[in-house]
Amino acid sequence: MGSEPHSPSRFFVLRSERNTRYDTEFFIIDETEPGPAPRCPRCGGVVGMLTWRPPHRVKLQFHGEEPGDFVQFLGVGPYLIVSERFADAFRAEGLTGLHGFEPVEVAKIRRQRRRSKTDYALPHYFFVTVSFGSALVDEARSQILRPGPFTCDYCRAIGTDGFNGFVLEPGSWNGDDVFEPRGLGVHVVSERFAHFVSKHQLTNIVLTPTERYVWDPLRRFSQPVSG
Ligand SMILES: [Zn+2]
Repeated sequence: MGSEPHSPSRFFVLRSERNTRYDTEFFIIDETEPGPAPRCPRCGGVVGMLTWRPPHRVKLQFHGEEPGDFVQFLGVGPYLIVSERFADAFRAEGLTGLHGFEPVEVAKIRRQRRRSKTDYALPHYFFVTVSFGSALVDEARSQILRPGPFTCDYCRAIGTDGFNGFVLEPGSWNGDDVFEPRGLGVHVVSERFAHFVSKHQLTNIVLTPTERYVWDPLRRFSQPVSG
């Protein structure tokens, strides 16, 4: 792998992969009142998801053949569960930025393909939370659609309506391997995390370089159709 000794750190957007043999989804079976959402230390505004309190009971849905190592819940926000294999390797390698590792109880399983030919062992899963990061987006070098100006320059919790690639401000990152940059609402990982995924062949993970990350629900970055 070619490397430039003085190239800036590369970062990737972390998501569950779709349409592979490891395509797995989970749904929360709610039995407890959610706890409070984390708040910005400067302005007191909400900067994350409501807390998911134990017991963490889920329904797993397999769209492929085997359970994946990393599963992102896309319903109301980015809750994450990871397999025991993922959790053990993450800690053994000394990576940072994921917290909690609270056991998850799989109460239901639904398979897309009724007669899967593959035998697999269902892993133990753990619920993890992601560091609200120190990293800031370099707004001038990024294409991010914002619904309005920032009211707080620390959390920048104004939301986003679209992305057409972004980069982080050099020097704003504290070194966490998994984190949510301030004001972005997406999970970002380090190059070290990318090596960790390939070294351990962890499944159901897709990493997109932040400069190439596109999310365009309002079609502001795509070519308009004429006529
Ligand atoms: Zn704030």
